[in-house]
Amino acid sequence: MLTLQRGSHHGLLIAPRWPSTRIQLEEEVLQCLLDAQALLPTGLRLLLTRGFEPSRSRLGGFRRVVRRIGIAVFRTCYPQRRDEIDAIFSANGHDIDGRHVDVSLVLHGKRLRLLPLGVFTPPRWQHRRVARYAELVARAKRSLQDCGFELHHNPTEALQIHCDYPPR
Ligand SMILES: [Zn+2]
Repeated sequence: MLTLQRGSHHGLLIAPRWPSTRIQLEEEVLQCLLDAQALLPTGLRLLLTRGFEPSRSRLGGFRRVVRRIGIAVFRTCYPQRRDEIDAIFSANGHDIDGRHVDVSLVLHGKRLRLLPLGVFTPPRWQHRRVARYAELVARAKRSLQDCGFELHHNPTEALQIHCDYPPR
């Protein structure tokens, strides 16, 4: 398992999601992220925001509390989207090992905020944002898939861009 600090690692941008200060992931997963980035046009870069977060740590405990609050708020805002709660709020493997990562996109040095309000971003806004960057988002997702990543099936979680790297 590797530990990466904020900054740039062989050209891959690293920005741990608050309150993390570092990202842990498997070495082969990092290699595949680098491969995926190499397939992208200049100006478009991947930004790694989340990797392995052991559940028995302060960070894991913090995420659990935030998740509990998040579920309550989400239920109130989107009573008709109950069936998505599990997909959006489960740890999605981040608590298991370093084969689950969240990736953002940076275009010409500026981060693309596809979910300006995080998972609470209304679906209509999500569609509008994705439409604006559709081609770039599709291209980044395709290169991740070409390098062996599986993308999340939930549309909101997929914008996060949550990827799983299955063992082979
Ligand atoms: Zn994730």
